[in-house]
Amino acid sequence: MNQVLLSIPYLASAVLFILSLKGLASQVTARRGNLLGMVGMASALLATLAAEGVHPISRMWVVVAMLVGAAVGTVLAARVAMTAMPELVALLHSFVGAAAVLVGYGSFFGKHGLTDVGHAIHMVEIFVAVWIGAITFTGSVVAFFKLRGLVTGKPLLLPGRHGLNLALVVASVALGLVIVAERNGEPLGALVAATVIALILGAHLVLAIGGADMPVVVSLLNSYSGWTAAAAGFMLANDALIVTGALVGSSGAILSYIMCRAMNRSIWSVVLGGFGANGGGQAAAGAAAAAGGEVHEITVGETARELLDARTVIIVPGYGMAVARAQHSVHEVTDRLRARNIQVRFAIHPVAGRLPGHMNVLLAEASVPYDLVLEMDEINGDFPDTDVVLIIGANDIVNPSAQTDPHSPIAGMPVLEVWKARRVVVLKRGRAAGYAGVDNPLFYQENTRMLFGDAHQTMSALEKELG
Ligand code: NDP
Repeated sequence: MNQVLLSIPYLASAVLFILSLKGLASQVTARRGNLLGMVGMASALLATLAAEGVHPISRMWVVVAMLVGAAVGTVLAARVAMTAMPELVALLHSFVGAAAVLVGYGSFFGKHGLTDVGHAIHMVEIFVAVWIGAITFTGSVVAFFKLRGLVTGKPLLLPGRHGLNLALVVASVALGLVIVAERNGEPLGALVAATVIALILGAHLVLAIGGADMPVVVSLLNSYSGWTAAAAGFMLANDALIVTGALVGSSGAILSYIMCRAMNRSIWSVVLGGFGANGGGQAAAGAAAAAGGEVHEITVGETARELLDARTVIIVPGYGMAVARAQHSVHEVTDRLRARNIQVRFAIHPVAGRLPGHMNVLLAEASVPYDLVLEMDEINGDFPDTDVVLIIGANDIVNPSAQTDPHSPIAGMPVLEVWKARRVVVLKRGRAAGYAGVDNPLFYQENTRMLFGDAHQTMSALEKELG
């Protein structure tokens, strides 16, 4: 297939990717969105394989690599727990970075036969793709280790770290100029030096970010991986890669911005690091929260009676629901209450769980009707008119100290104002803190009752109690 013909399937892929993103924006159309994305990717891959000038042996190796990659990817995706998804995503981003670096070097050693201007432009493309790719690679690998708990969630705050970052960027730009200016002597040394600097920069940027900001980091790395792919697209003169990379890069950037707003962070403070330094972060998660007072316990039977007496119920799912895999019992309980004409709705916090959209995915998997599932901004004003709030394994996202304690690591983070309801029932196993590692005054409020136990077992018992 020649270059002109090739642009037809590439254009079709670009349109399918845009339609795919549109579909993914709503739970109702998400499956169709996924399917359109898969068809778009298949079209781009097949067209690339059919392109003119690809040696049959190279084609065979590409097919072999794709089959091996698809097999590994299928096994990984089937095995991964939903709670480990951010780690997998971080690892996948590192592959994009590594691929861009390798393709950049391949392109560097290739025969160019370009004019001076063409050569300079090509060298800029190679430099940019390799540089962003290397940052994405080590940044994503460090993010993977942090999310796995193999590296501490506490930020690494080297003295003068901003100066160090600036020096690394300035040195990279200087090396970039050398790479672009050299025409005859191969500037391999400068490219290697720039790559090493970018590898250090990527690791340092993510090491400086506190555990509490890791959700934004994963989405930022998603964005970086998109820009890496777009840069590689310019380097390879591949339109499909440019469009796909730009779509991933910009949607990742928008998601990072939305998540920063949800956590009351400025995107620059997250990128430059240092947040989460005042305690908190994943290192503290799971630790017993500092004792903050007396809690009032409730039994499953008493909870059932409270629910049956209610007219309006809001369910707030969190990370604990995902760990316990309680979403199916949650749906059953919802059905039983709705059958008795009790209004049941779900309140979803933008950073509930451990990845964007985590709760929406779980509730959709359990076939909870979409129209019952509301975002924080849509439902936060309704808590004062709510009889019972059922909090299932959520903690940080319902912590009032975000509003009342300016020294809290989560100070300023918008939270679900559940304490305004008449009765609050919290399902969790014990008195452990959430991801941010801070105590939650909600548990000691007069209108709060603690229903201790694994969320799955408790919800199953509640399901039976409701008959
Ligand atoms: P939290 O991590 O704040 O709290 C979860 C609670 O669930 C814990 O306090 C734990 O208490 C309880 N729990 C754990 N296992 C079970 C179980 N089997 N049954 C019942 N309860 C259980 O979760 P939230 O969803 O409230 O908040 C999300 C946090 O994660 C935020 O701080 C956010 O910034 C962060 N984060 C979000 C990401 C995202 O993209 N959404 C990514 C990474 C981090 P106990 O042990 O006592 O049962």
